[in-house]
Amino acid sequence: MYLVAHISVEICAAKSCKLCTQYCPEANTILYSEEMGKDEGFKYGSAYVAVDRCKGCAQCVWVCDNMAKNNAIKMIMIDQLSVAAVTDNITYGEKSTTATLVNPAAG
Ligand code: SF4
Ligand code: SF4
Repeated sequence: MYLVAHISVEICAAKSCKLCTQYCPEANTILYSEEMGKDEGFKYGSAYVAVDRCKGCAQCVWVCDNMAKNNAIKMIMIDQLSVAAVTDNITYGEKSTTATLVNPAAG
């Protein structure tokens, strides 16, 4: 087991600054969805992490805590995630990466 970044949709969707997406050193790892959180009534979308690409460096945590001042990202053990986003489709061209939500215990 290992640590991955986990973003609180509740906090992120209230801020939606997208700052962390510019600082993750791994390409196509912190993604952003306009739809995430809409079911729960949040006005904005949220950033989320494709955990299969996260290297656990915690740089995004530093950015969200110290630059954005939003404290929305925590490092947690991957087996503690109830739902995880994993890379579904990567196209290094005009199309953006997408990720699919899975239950890590089942996956
Ligand atoms: S820096 Fe924090 S609040 Fe801003 S998009 Fe990333 S997780 Fe959300
Ligand atoms: S822990 Fe590192 S690799 Fe993982 S999402 Fe954050 S910045 Fe990217």
